[in-house]
Order: sequence, then C-alpha cells, then structure tokens
Amino acid sequence: MTEDRAKMNLALQLEQYLPPWILELVRGVSEEADRLGQRVYLVGGVVRDLLLGQANFDLDLVIEGDAVRLAQQLARSPQIKLVTHPRFGTAKLGYGDFSLDMASARQETYASPGALPKVFPGTLSDDLSRRDFTMNAMSICLASKDYAILIDPYDGKSDLERGLIRVLHSRSFIDDATRILRAVRYEQRLGFSLEPGTAELLVRDVPMLRTISPDRMRHELELILRERHPERAIERLGELGALQQINPQLKGNGWIAERFDRTRKLNKARQLPSLYLCLLVYHLSKEESENFIQRLNLPKNTAQVLRDTLRLKGELCLLDRPSVKRSAVYSLLHGYNPVAIQANAVASESPLACSNLELFLTRLRYVKTALDGEKLISLGISAGPELGRVLQELHRAKLDGEVKTRADEERLALSLKP
Ligand code: ATP
Repeated sequence: MTEDRAKMNLALQLEQYLPPWILELVRGVSEEADRLGQRVYLVGGVVRDLLLGQANFDLDLVIEGDAVRLAQQLARSPQIKLVTHPRFGTAKLGYGDFSLDMASARQETYASPGALPKVFPGTLSDDLSRRDFTMNAMSICLASKDYAILIDPYDGKSDLERGLIRVLHSRSFIDDATRILRAVRYEQRLGFSLEPGTAELLVRDVPMLRTISPDRMRHELELILRERHPERAIERLGELGALQQINPQLKGNGWIAERFDRTRKLNKARQLPSLYLCLLVYHLSKEESENFIQRLNLPKNTAQVLRDTLRLKGELCLLDRPSVKRSAVYSLLHGYNPVAIQANAVASESPLACSNLELFLTRLRYVKTALDGEKLISLGISAGPELGRVLQELHRAKLDGEVKTRADEERLALSLKP
C-alpha cells in the first residue's frame, strides 16, 4: 500500500454524495464515538458506490469499540428507534424511513466450508479481511482524527476503476460459496468482469455451493431477483454451472430473458421476485419443482404460488378455445393465486389462453352481482342452499352478459324461485 493511497481524503466526495441531513447525522455519530474513545468507519457497499458515483444510502458503520454502547448513547431522543443484538455486537438506529446499521469490528473463522463463521471482536483490518471482494473491503474513516481518509488494504479502488471483481484470498469461495452468487450479481449489475484468477477459483469451487444451507441460498437468490435485470445474472450462473447447483434442470436461456423482460413491463415491482421464481420453475416437472422448493426452503406461501403455477399450466388447454365462456374462465381461475395466473399469462405460448388469463385478472375477478343474500331473501328466496344456488347463477349470468342491470338480476332471481 503506498502512502499516497493510504492518505486519500474523500471529505469533498462525502459532502457531495450524502444528503446534508445524513452527513450531519453521521458526524453526530462520529463525535459521540470520539467522546467514548471509539472509532467509526463507513464500510462495504456505500464506499464502493460512493467511489462509483452511484446513489446508495444503506449506511453500514463498523465501530472499533462497542457498537451497542455507542448506539445506546445516540438513541437518547424518543424519535430515534433503537434495536440492538448484543450477542452479535450489532445495533440499528432508525430515524423515520432512514436507518444506520452499526456493528463492532470483528474477525471470523470458518469451522467448515459453508457453515456460518465463528465471530470474535477484532480491528477494522480484521473486519475488512473477512469480506467478499476487494471493492467491498474498503472503508472511510469517520473519526475526527483521519476524518474521510479512505482505507483500502486490498486495492479495491483500483479494481473498481478497472471494473474487476476480485476475491481477497484463494479459499474465499470454499469458505463461503454464496460469494459465487454475489460475484455474478455484482458482475452483471455493474457490467464488470471477474478478475481471471477469481474466475478460475469460482469455476473450481462451483461444487461448493452444495455446502450452502437452503436459507442462505434463498437469501442470495432473492437478492439476485431484486436486481434491475436479474435474467443477466441467471444466464451467467447457468453458463458457470452454478444455477444447476440449485436445481440441475434450471436454465438461464433466452426464454427466461425474454419472459423476465415482459414481466417487468407488465407488473408492479412488488410482485416481480415471485413472478420471476414462477418463470424459473415453469419448465420443471412437479417433482423437480418440489426439489427446488426444498433446496431453497421456500416459505409456504411462495411454495404454494409455484405449485399453483404448474398446476394451472396443466389446465391451460381449457382456456385455449375460442368458444370458452367467461363464466368458465372464472370458475377455472378463481381458486388460483393471482401471481400464478399472471405467471402463466406471461409464460404460455397460447395467445388465446393468455388473453383469457388477462381477462380474468383485469376484469372477471372483480365482477359482482348487484343483489346480495339479504336482498334475495327480501325477494322471497329462502336462506340456505337455495340462496347459494341463486347467487351463483346470478354471478354466472352476469359474467356471461346475460344480465346487465339490477332489474335483470331481480327478474332472473324470481324466475329461479322454486
Ligand atoms: P448491495 O446491497 O448493493 O448488493 P452491499 O455491499 O451493501 O451491496 P450487503 O449484502 O448488504 O451488500 O453486504 C454488506 C457488506 O457485507 C458487503 O459490502 C461485503 O463487504 C460484506 N458481505 C456481505 N456478504 C458477504 C459474504 N458472503 N462474504 C463476505 N463478505 C460479505
């Protein structure tokens, strides 16, 4: 490390990058830490993104000292929400929508590949040495002495400038193979390349993904599915043989790219990760999709959406007829999760089936009769199974356009009276 690089001062960049009120807050943290004899550093993604000039206000702070004690000192005003995890030496300070994550500097050792590491208190240098890539192993000192000095022990800044993703040591992917998914996520997000040595290690260590627990694997896949263009990382993982470690039948091909893109154009951001998952499993058999669900320990609701997607796929032939009535579309689809219906509308090759699925999602599922049970009773229909039958018939007739007005419904209801 040269003296020059060690002394690079980013005060101006910090001022331009962080909104004034966040900068003020960070300065407050730093002053309190000075008083307690602790040192605060900005670390990880925000340092990387500041150097890239990309907005990121997920601030992670590492404290040489006791993060929980520092956070407790700072949370004296009732407007600040404090959550601490003393066992892990971490704390979160909430200021309305914005939060600051704080952690005591730590060192780690890996008892076995893929296992969660054993953690001990450490220095900033220890803390940076346990990180995934050089570009994520930089920090900016916030202590008043050395304020805004960049600390970059692994030359992360120069890798950033060259667009390279580089691990810190040759056992990195063995210790924690989730870094394979992370490397590809950053590569595709930033348009970077894997540094050749890192690429070799990654390919060598792809089989280590089997050591990763379902929960950790799911977490990393979810992070990929929250990217702007997740299909790029999915395709790349397929090329590298990493996708097949999640399920041997998964493919990151042109079909996925095209359908992910179509999904984004049609849907709200909130639903996207679930829809992407449905599309990923769309060509799997029932048994393979069950393996996928297990491999990722998917939550019950998500698993149900995937099962619904494949079950509905098996019934789409019923919607692929020009003469299908609206009431038949309704009765086939109303028991399915809307996300599963939407996934089929994007995935199906049949234009007719797709338009029936869209018709259900945009109109049919909202169709209601003007008369409810109470009104029918007042027309002389008896409560009980008869009422249910009449309500159902009214709803069917409304869907099929046989009744339009309330008077039409009343006439039909009276005609159905035994
Ligand atoms: P982004 O949120 O933009 O993907 P980030 O860098 O903030 O990027 P996080 O997943 O929030 O990503 O992780 C925060 C930091 O923790 C990373 O920058 C990295 O230094 C470290 N980190 C996260 N996961 C790992 C891992 N599996 N191995 C080593 N370090 C990790």
